[in-house]
Amino acid sequence: MSFFPGRPWQSSMWRLAGLLLGGAMFGRVLLGSVWAGVALVALCMVAWHYFRLWRVLRLLRERRRLIAPSGRGVWGELESLLYRRQRESLVRKRKLAAILRAYRQVAAAVPDGAVVLERSGLTILWFNDSAARLLGLRYPHDLGARFTNLLRSPRVLEWINGPDRLEPLLDLAVPGNDSVRLSLRLIAYTDDQWLLVVRDISTLMRLEQVRRDFVANVSHELRTPLTVIHGYLDLLEPDDNPEWVPIVEEMRNQTDRMAQIVEDLLMLSRLEAQSRPSEETVVMSSLLRALEREAQALSRGRHQIQIVDNAACDLAGSLKELHSAFSNLVSNAVRYTPDSGKITIGWQRRDDGGAMLSVADTGVGIPAQHIPRITERFYRVSSSRSRDSGGTGLGLSIVKHVLGRHHAELLIESEVGTGSRFTCAFGPECIRERR
Ligand code: ADP
Repeated sequence: MSFFPGRPWQSSMWRLAGLLLGGAMFGRVLLGSVWAGVALVALCMVAWHYFRLWRVLRLLRERRRLIAPSGRGVWGELESLLYRRQRESLVRKRKLAAILRAYRQVAAAVPDGAVVLERSGLTILWFNDSAARLLGLRYPHDLGARFTNLLRSPRVLEWINGPDRLEPLLDLAVPGNDSVRLSLRLIAYTDDQWLLVVRDISTLMRLEQVRRDFVANVSHELRTPLTVIHGYLDLLEPDDNPEWVPIVEEMRNQTDRMAQIVEDLLMLSRLEAQSRPSEETVVMSSLLRALEREAQALSRGRHQIQIVDNAACDLAGSLKELHSAFSNLVSNAVRYTPDSGKITIGWQRRDDGGAMLSVADTGVGIPAQHIPRITERFYRVSSSRSRDSGGTGLGLSIVKHVLGRHHAELLIESEVGTGSRFTCAFGPECIRERR
């Protein structure tokens, strides 16, 4: 490896040597001293190098684009290297800008609104055209504004500051336009930013409303003819034709079942139609006594029924809805537990300050693969067993709906042949201490 890497250094050195030699000769001939000539040339060289250094530094400091270098030697080499780096970074910058532009164009073209929010202050950093259209945001006026100052809705405020903000907020009415319904969804975008996705779900909500109205209307319309048929069947006394007795009996059972299905469907429609349950104090001691009486009436002495009440608190919510939910669980426990089985209805506190109502039985149990689906409407593990025991397939749907409306959760544990435990877990906000 040579000491001076590359040609520029070699040419610079040769040039330096030539100049010093020239300086020495010049000094000897004109100044009478070799060293005076060498010193003069060395001084000029230092001044020239400083000048070149100052020029490069100025270009870099002022971030000016370098002109394509034409010089030779080390300064030429330095300038050409800097020029190359500058060009490379310029090309990289242009590429990145093109990618960014393409992303923004995609974001602007999607029909869903997208808003980038700063997490701490909820200020708007960016939004696309759809967000501007759906939320009425104005560009660039609303950039930097606080999102909750622009979308002034108590629901949005409660949701975005609450613990469930990562769950979508559905069916939000747009201020000033009731026909448009939106869903908002927050996505953790970076450590300090949220991406808010806004979707127009008006059509979906309209279809959902049509479905709800249809079910409610059909159920309502079926109620009267069923009552009439039931009434006439009650009047029938087939004493003259004893072979009709089992037929009439079966017809009565089936109309009872249909009436129960209609009642359950109407109950579900009512739960869906009402926005919030009433907020009365549900006195749990009397509700537990009522549940015990119902269990005993259904069981007719075939099961051992026990009440464990050690929560020493009451619930806030709708007595009617909660009673209906708990009754469904108790009725299931009785229906799916063979004779002489045990049913325990418990009301206990939870570690987080909430409380839970549990209905445990020693019945047939539920195979694990069915558990995630048994709260769906008309989903049954065994249709024949459900029908034989007078089930409609809607009981657990009602339970889930009621609990959802009270911000409570339904937990299901079950083992085939051993029994099941259905737990309604209520948070501390639903609890009323007994006085
Ligand atoms: P159904 O009217 O058929 O009982 P539900 O919605 O109340 O409808 O219950 C759905 C299904 O869950 C039932 O068909 C049954 O298979 C199962 N199930 C519910 N409760 C129990 C239980 N305590 N023990 C065993 N299986 C149960």
